[in-house]
Amino acid sequence: MTKRTILLIEDEEAISEPLAAALAREGFDPIVAGTAAEGMELFTRRAPDLVLLDVMLPDGDGRDVLRRMRETSRTPVVMLSARGEEMDRVLGLELGADDYVTKPFSAVELAARIRAVLRRGGGEAPAHAAAVLEAGDVRLDLEAHEATQGGEPLELTVKEFELMRVLLERAGKVVKREELVREVWDPAWFGSTKTLDVHVSALRKKLGDDPAAPRYIHTVRGVGFRFDPAVEAQ
Ligand code: CA
Repeated sequence: MTKRTILLIEDEEAISEPLAAALAREGFDPIVAGTAAEGMELFTRRAPDLVLLDVMLPDGDGRDVLRRMRETSRTPVVMLSARGEEMDRVLGLELGADDYVTKPFSAVELAARIRAVLRRGGGEAPAHAAAVLEAGDVRLDLEAHEATQGGEPLELTVKEFELMRVLLERAGKVVKREELVREVWDPAWFGSTKTLDVHVSALRKKLGDDPAAPRYIHTVRGVGFRFDPAVEAQ
């Protein structure tokens, strides 16, 4: 598997250095630019698979960099902004950003978001991707990264959200354990699949689901899980 190149445009070395190291550990090939100008130059020359773009750069605004990139390219861009910068999330997405994270964030969380964006098939016209997944009274807004159940917000972790996304994409069908692990974690995951059970269990708890009489997540013993919301009797 070839490594995906991630262009990190960030002027603060206290962020870019450890982040680049973490991305390398996560199996990506990071390249770092400290200014908007250098970022545009590397973007053109190296054609990265994804861009992490800081909003406040010494020689310009990250949103202008994004606008310029979008004139010629659909390469996925994840905007990074510091808490308090009040970067308008909606504006960022309107300008064509694929996701948006607020500092401070963990490298592991960011890597999960990067994988999610890459998996959504960034680089294609956004119209091709379903922005909302629904099954029964559960709804996932993939762009806003929001989950609701019966209209009430569900507070999900990044992994729980991803797990739910994969299950909902194939609602009514069995998703194999290995597929879930591969999609939600990492192709190079060597850990025990116990992690999967821990996350499924957490998800069930948040949904108020009883594994003995499931209304949402059904266990298919030895195979995997099936998301199949029960229709409430009227
Ligand atoms: Ca900055």
